[in-house]
Amino acid sequence: MRPVIRDFFSGFGNLFRKPRTVVYPKEKIIIPEGSRGIPRLKLDLDSLEIICNGCGDCRKVCPENCIEIIKTVDENGIEVLDEFYLDLSRCSFCGNCVEFCNLDAIEMTYRHQLAEPDKNSFRLEKLELIKQSDYSLRDFWTK
Ligand code: SF4
Ligand code: SF4
Repeated sequence: MRPVIRDFFSGFGNLFRKPRTVVYPKEKIIIPEGSRGIPRLKLDLDSLEIICNGCGDCRKVCPENCIEIIKTVDENGIEVLDEFYLDLSRCSFCGNCVEFCNLDAIEMTYRHQLAEPDKNSFRLEKLELIKQSDYSLRDFWTK
């Protein structure tokens, strides 16, 4: 009987509490620090070159197998990154790619709004992943 009474008062008390959710998309919230949104590829701030060298460590630790890396050989015969694809339709935002990157070349942004009319739009290429730096601010509504 006691749990019933306890649950009754607990439920009754909720009538006077502030809602714990927001009315999407009308209300604005600032998402918590450390939230994991779309991963982005970082640039070296001095050279403005992409940091990623295409080593593939992130691809190996990605549990959803959503990273594809294509490398090429430059004029000096050195393997360099050619293209980097990330399929957001499969990404679980676990953060493994960030955690295991030895070059600190990839990080999670705060971009969470992912609705797209076309499934192919979820497959981001290198340049699009660099552009995600626009979403490093903790504004839920940035799009
Ligand atoms: S993001 Fe990091 S781990 Fe992934 S390929 Fe580039 S350098 Fe390697
Ligand atoms: S956040 Fe996780 S699932 Fe998404 S690309 Fe990185 S390792 Fe893969």
